[in-house]
Amino acid sequence: MALSLDSPVQFVKGIGPRKGSVLQSHGIVTVLDLLGHYPRGYLDRSNTIPIGKVAKDAAVTVLGRVMAQGTMYGGKNKRFEIIIGDDSGHISLLWFAGHKYLQNRFKKGDLLAATGVVGFYNGYQLAHPEIEPLEDEQAEGVHTGRIVPLYPSSADLTKVGMQSRGFRKAIKYALDNCAEEINDHLPSTKREELGLPDLTTTIRQIHFPDNDESREAARRRLSFEELAELQFLIIRHRAHIKEIKKTQPLAKHGALVKRFAESLPFQLTPGQREALKIIYQDMAGDTPMNRLLQGDVGCGKTVVAMAGAVYAAENQRQSAFMAPTELLAEQHYHNWKDSLAEIGISCVLLTGSLKTAQRNLIASRISTGETQIVFGTHALFSATVKFKRLGLVIIDEQHRFGVSQRAQLIEKGESPDVLVMSATPIPRTLALTLYGDLDFATIKGLPPGRKPVKSVWRTAADRQKIYKFIAERVANSEQVFIIYPLVQRSENIDLLAAEEAHRDLSETVFPNLKIGLVHGQMKVTQQEKAIAEFRAALTDILVATTVVEVGVDIPRATVMVIEHGERFGLAQLHQLRGRIGRGDKPGYCVAVATPPISNLVRKRLNYFVSHTDGFELAEADLKLRGPGEMFGTKQSGSLNFRMVNLSADQDLLEATRSLMETLLEAKPAASKRKKTADLPSRTTPDLVQYYEERSSLREKIAQIA
Ligand code: ADP
Ligand code: MG
Repeated sequence: MALSLDSPVQFVKGIGPRKGSVLQSHGIVTVLDLLGHYPRGYLDRSNTIPIGKVAKDAAVTVLGRVMAQGTMYGGKNKRFEIIIGDDSGHISLLWFAGHKYLQNRFKKGDLLAATGVVGFYNGYQLAHPEIEPLEDEQAEGVHTGRIVPLYPSSADLTKVGMQSRGFRKAIKYALDNCAEEINDHLPSTKREELGLPDLTTTIRQIHFPDNDESREAARRRLSFEELAELQFLIIRHRAHIKEIKKTQPLAKHGALVKRFAESLPFQLTPGQREALKIIYQDMAGDTPMNRLLQGDVGCGKTVVAMAGAVYAAENQRQSAFMAPTELLAEQHYHNWKDSLAEIGISCVLLTGSLKTAQRNLIASRISTGETQIVFGTHALFSATVKFKRLGLVIIDEQHRFGVSQRAQLIEKGESPDVLVMSATPIPRTLALTLYGDLDFATIKGLPPGRKPVKSVWRTAADRQKIYKFIAERVANSEQVFIIYPLVQRSENIDLLAAEEAHRDLSETVFPNLKIGLVHGQMKVTQQEKAIAEFRAALTDILVATTVVEVGVDIPRATVMVIEHGERFGLAQLHQLRGRIGRGDKPGYCVAVATPPISNLVRKRLNYFVSHTDGFELAEADLKLRGPGEMFGTKQSGSLNFRMVNLSADQDLLEATRSLMETLLEAKPAASKRKKTADLPSRTTPDLVQYYEERSSLREKIAQIA
């Protein structure tokens, strides 16, 4: 029987039942699945160097033949050593532990590629390198400019011989026998328009690229597919929302919103008014609002959202205002409760740390409809909280909710309006990925009188000068934030750093100043107390971790020192900087970098101090760090792309988006189907079906993950 794409993977030459069953446990069941096991990287001339050219501390990949190997007992440690050499020299590969599996693995003369950082001790060496067995012909290939794929593997795959080399052979065989069978679902007109290769070429080139250009073209085609699947889900979800009809649209706004606006100590900016108008239109419409409100840090998103909540209240609907931390929920509650009470609106605060009795009391006021606006954290959406009539959901300052979580919130009400506010501006590609189911609105401009924060970056060598500057500002009745980073993987060490700094500053550096401390592991009441004291100017300096990153609003604070500035991304630095310069005095931000300061860090910090526009900074952050870093590792699955490069593939994102809009509009009733110029209608149902299948697969995978 001839091998086909649907054949079980064990029928690929060299695989068989044993390897086949391990592959299966990794989701590689058919030949097609095997072809979908894309390389994790490549070896080529551009990233390998002759052994004779290695230099200490350089990260290198070298190719060489095994000359000698053995276990050494000299010195303190038992170690395993393999010496490899090429025409230009030799280098030793060393393992101090975990080398049992290496001991009978290679013969003299075997070809290896080794990747690691070069050390020097009686000669050049690579300690615990990554190694990759190669065939002669492949090594030759690398030297003559060919590109060798490296595949993801695992302990159990390696055990049955399915490391890179095993995959290379199997995939080569599968390609030779089945590549022509691959059917391209995308019409050639569409491919040509986008300059993308067909799928057969793509799959061949992603595995065994002829050159860099063909590899990049293949990556772009696969990126297109990934984006298309995600956009299919997003656009379909959006289409569903648009089909929902509100049972009772809101009446036009009147007296209450006006009174609310009049009660404010300031006038709304033109940008705020424009955004508000869009929100009113949404809320008064007959389908629920689903909108992302963006704007630079400090542009005043909160008051716009509150006006929406007042509008809902005026129409006998409740609003839920969800903040990312309890601290912020409390702050919003305290900021707004009095002015809301003045116009006859009652609000409550509901957080996870409330005592049960209190919580029940508040929950009952929500369920009877006695209270109109509820501030809180995600605890708001626990099953025990029931609203009488939830009309508006406001989600503030977060990047932490995916499309499906938003859908869950919406179920708390009868198709409520939803307003999502992002903490920092989001580059368009990311917005379309994370929030592609929402409509967008942007508040342009800042409230009048804001002075740009003067920003610089320094190293620890300038610390005395920085302290002197702090002392001067405090003498001028200004206040200072000193920020410490908090990275999850070393949370305790980081907390220690903030606590130690607090002690050191209070006892030694500024014994005469009052210095507060706030971090995320303090009880919320303690956090709130530290912030309240700072707000009331009972403390001069607040040492804080990034719990103050978003939303905290203290007008008298003018100086922010950011310790370990090298650990923050641009968007985060900008967000932090947004905490100061909120009053009428100019603000100063000093990012302190701790060596070693890489070029990337230098670039980032230079960019930070020379740019003030949050949208530009966000784009640059995406380019410099990529989306995963930018949004933290806990981001929803939507960003787990294999082939997509969000900052380079914007054209593909726009293309998949308009393709899906066309397709899904064309789909439902056959009579409603539109013929479009660029997409022959004959292929439309096939494409919809294709992406439906692919996307439901993706949904399932996301649910498991
Ligand atoms: P962000 O958009 O970053 O969430 P906030 O809503 O916290 O910003 O607003 C920042 C500060 O600006 C707050 O102190 C708020 O009271 C103030 N503010 C908002 N709108 C105006 C305005 N139109 N004029 C003056 N100050 C304003
Ligand atoms: Mg805010």
